[in-house]
Amino acid sequence: MTTFADLGLSDNVLRAVSDAGYESPTPIQAKAIPPVLMNKDILGCAQTGTGKTASFTLPMIDILSQGRGRARMPRSVILEPTRELAAQVAENFETYGKYCKLEMALLIGGVSFTEQEQKITRGVDVLIATPGRLMDHCERGKVILTDTKILVIDEADRMLDMGFIPDVEHIVSLMPRFRQTLMFSATMPKEIRRLADKFLDSPKEITVAPPATTADTIEQSAIPVSPRGKRRKLTELLRVEDVSNALVFCNRKRDVATLYRSLEKDGFKAGALHGDMDQYKRMEWLAKFRDGEINVLVCSDVAARGLDIPSVSHVFNYDVPNHSEDYVHRVGRTGRAGRKGKSVTLVTENDDKQIAEIEKLIGRKINLEKPAESDTAEAPESPAATAQPVEAGDDKAPSTKKGRAKKSRSRRPAEAAPREAGEETSKEPTGDKKPAANDEGRRSVKPREPRGARSSNRRGERVPPDVPPEELNKPFGETDLVPAFLRR
Ligand code: AMP
Repeated sequence: MTTFADLGLSDNVLRAVSDAGYESPTPIQAKAIPPVLMNKDILGCAQTGTGKTASFTLPMIDILSQGRGRARMPRSVILEPTRELAAQVAENFETYGKYCKLEMALLIGGVSFTEQEQKITRGVDVLIATPGRLMDHCERGKVILTDTKILVIDEADRMLDMGFIPDVEHIVSLMPRFRQTLMFSATMPKEIRRLADKFLDSPKEITVAPPATTADTIEQSAIPVSPRGKRRKLTELLRVEDVSNALVFCNRKRDVATLYRSLEKDGFKAGALHGDMDQYKRMEWLAKFRDGEINVLVCSDVAARGLDIPSVSHVFNYDVPNHSEDYVHRVGRTGRAGRKGKSVTLVTENDDKQIAEIEKLIGRKINLEKPAESDTAEAPESPAATAQPVEAGDDKAPSTKKGRAKKSRSRRPAEAAPREAGEETSKEPTGDKKPAANDEGRRSVKPREPRGARSSNRRGERVPPDVPPEELNKPFGETDLVPAFLRR
C-alpha cells in the first residue's frame, strides 16, 4: 500500500500529516501528489470528502517552500466558489504548513479585510480567494497576478453553477501563460472540459470514485408528518434518537431562524447557519458545532456542500429538498469516512413527487416509516406556521395544498433554489459599487447596517447569541472572533 512517504513529500509536510493523524493517502492524494510535485497540470474529477484538498495543498506547500512572495504579487492562487470552502482550504494550509514558513492571505466577502490587504501588500505565497472578491482587488490594483506560478481552480462545476466562469476566465487572463494549473471538479460537463482545454497544458487526468454519498454506512429513512406537525416530530426525534450531533436542513432561510429559536427554547444546544448571516456568525456557529458546544445545527443548503464537519451522527431533512442532488449532499454530511450515520426525512403529503425523484437519483428506496397517528394529524406550531411575515420575493408559506401546488408549478427553477447569499456573487459590492444580485436580489436591496449595529436581522428577528457590537466593529484581524488561522 502506498504511504505518504512514498509520494515525495518533504519531512516537514510528512510530520504535519502525521500530526493530523492520517495513516495513508487517499486515492486522489496517491494519484495527484507525485505529478503536482513534478509541476504537472492536473485535471481532477473528485468531490469533497475524497481528501482532494490535501492532494493539492500538501505538494503546494513543498513547491512554495522555496522562494518568497513579492509585494502584492501572490505566488499561488486558489479559487474557491464559497467563503466557507475558502476558509476551509486556508485551515488546511495552516494545519499542513505548520512546519514551513509560508505567508497566506484569504480574500473572501462578508468581512473587513484590512489585515489581509496588509499581508498581500507585504507579499504572500498563497492567496485563497473567491472570484468576485479577487476581481475587485485586481481592479483596484491591490493584487497583481503576473507572478502567479500555481493556480488552483477548485470545485469548477460549482463555479459554473454559480455563474463565476466569466470572472474565472478574466482572472486567468491576468496570469502568466506559463504556470502550473490544477483544476478540480466533481463532474465534467462540456463547459468544464472547454475550460480545462483552455487553461491546462497536457494535464494528467485523475478520476476518483465519489465518497460514500448515500452509501451503506448511512441508514436512511423518511417519516410521514403533517406540515404543521414537523416541529413536534423533530423535537421528539432529537430526544429519542441516539443523537450525538445533528444537522437539520430547512429549505428556507427564515425557517432556519425560526426553528433554531424554537429548539433553543426547548432546551436544545442549537445553532443556526444560513446565507443571510454575516461571516463572523457563520464561522462562530461552525466552530461551536465542531467543538461540541452545540450539537444541533439548523441550516440551509449552504452547509450541505463542501463543508468539512466531521462525525455528524444524524442528518434531519426538516424539509424535503427542492432539488434531488441537494438530498445527496445533505445526507452525505453523515456517514463520512466509513462512520455510521443516520438520516431522517420528514415527508408531507405534498412531497411524494420529490421523494420519487430522489429515489430515482440515488437508485434506492428510502424506507418510509409507518406514520404515528399524532404525526399526520394537524398540530400547531411548525416554523412555517409560526413564521414571521414574509418579505417580498421570499417564499411565502402557502396555507393550502392547492396554493402550494400552484406555486411550485409556476416557479422557475432558478427561483426554486435560490443561491445562498453567503456564496459569492459574481461581483461583490465594494465601495461605490452597487450590490450585485444574489438571492436577495429578488427583494429590494437595502443598504446593510454597519456590522455590530444590529442585534436583529433585516426581518427584525433576533440573531442568535449576539457577539458584542464592539467586537464586530473591530477590524477583522483584531477581534477574538477571527479564526486562529487568520491570526498569524
Ligand atoms: P476533503 O475531500 O479535502 O474535503 O477532505 C475530507 C476529509 O478527509 C477532511 O476531514 C480531511 O481532514 C480528511 N482527510 C484528508 N486526507 C486524509 C487522509 N489521508 N486520511 C484520513 N483523512 C483524511
